[in-house]
Amino acid sequence: MSKNITAIYPGTFDPITLGHIDIINRAANIFDNVIVTLAVNTAKKPLFTLDERLEMMHDAVDRFENVWVAHFDGLLVDFARSNNACVIIRGLRAISDFEYEFQMALMNKKLAGEITTVFLMPNEKYTYLNSTIVKSVAKFHGNIDAFVTKLVAAKLHQKFTA
Ligand code: ADP
Repeated sequence: MSKNITAIYPGTFDPITLGHIDIINRAANIFDNVIVTLAVNTAKKPLFTLDERLEMMHDAVDRFENVWVAHFDGLLVDFARSNNACVIIRGLRAISDFEYEFQMALMNKKLAGEITTVFLMPNEKYTYLNSTIVKSVAKFHGNIDAFVTKLVAAKLHQKFTA
């Protein structure tokens, strides 16, 4: 009997980068369904609104047949359960990600033992990449074309020239 496994990939996606998309691509090749989900209520103060971030996420995952975009406000494990997802995907770039990710994964396991966190490594060319560093480069009008989609580059440009 074949299983139909849904994985969720949560994050702030402020904005989505080619590093995130690398992880999405890997997840889409492994799992039947992948829901890329924006965590609305995090301690971070985002540059982009919810709708702007969702638009950039939709544009980025359009080419994947088994990937969907969603958002949630509340506990990740509740969102996972209500979508019948048994896997949480997280990206691991470097040792520096490990402590925080490990703590989150353990907490989620305590809250929902049936859900497994799976860590995926991106191509090494994205290991230094995160949304914050891309925003810093964009702010000073550096070239960000190698780090984000065309739409995200245009939106960042707009933000910092407005
Ligand atoms: P969060 O605020 O939850 O860290 P992010 O949107 O920044 O949300 O990241 C979501 C997930 O994607 C995290 O697991 C993060 O480690 C991972 N991630 C972010 N950038 C990259 C990258 N360049 N390569 C691999 N994983 C990444």
